[in-house]
Amino acid sequence: MSSTYAECSLFLSPLDAAFRIDEAETFLSALRETGFITGTIDAQTGDDQIDKKQADAFYSGERFLEHIAYMGCSPAVQFEARDDSDSFCHVRLHQYDEAVLIVNRKQSRPPHCPRCNKPVRSFDIEHQGEQASPQQILCESCHETSPTAEFNWRKMGGYARTFLEVTDIFPKEAIPQQSFLDKLDNITQTHWQYFYSCR
Ligand SMILES: [Zn+2]
Repeated sequence: MSSTYAECSLFLSPLDAAFRIDEAETFLSALRETGFITGTIDAQTGDDQIDKKQADAFYSGERFLEHIAYMGCSPAVQFEARDDSDSFCHVRLHQYDEAVLIVNRKQSRPPHCPRCNKPVRSFDIEHQGEQASPQQILCESCHETSPTAEFNWRKMGGYARTFLEVTDIFPKEAIPQQSFLDKLDNITQTHWQYFYSCR
């Protein structure tokens, strides 16, 4: 596997940028019941890149592959750390006080303006940090400013306060099943979408 591969993730996020999960334990219990996740990864023994302040990390559950469909034939997905590699597919819950923009820095496709539907090429992905997210973006085509949440990020970005990250997934390598997105909708009573991002 290339190093690029390990730095890409699938993200699931609510469409409503203001939505935040207040009862994280209730949400996580519901996710465990679906078999999507299982135990918490101990930052002491697991992936040392996990930042406990930003994200809680979980091992994938026994029904993970029913919820996330890998494209192509027989994927060799690694679900636990090995001696030769501490990079493995797991799930992280990210929650922020304010909505942040997570956008793919590797396979960049410009977002589309919600007013004129033209690509906004002047949007500089390189200079967008996850913590310094613009709430509004100016479109060079129609010269209108629109809320970041209303842009079409074309599955290469998302603007939200809550994200479920599934690590070690290259863009379009695997997609969440609609039945799993429906489960997330039911659990949280809000609609979810997905996108891919590489660091
Ligand atoms: Zn426009």
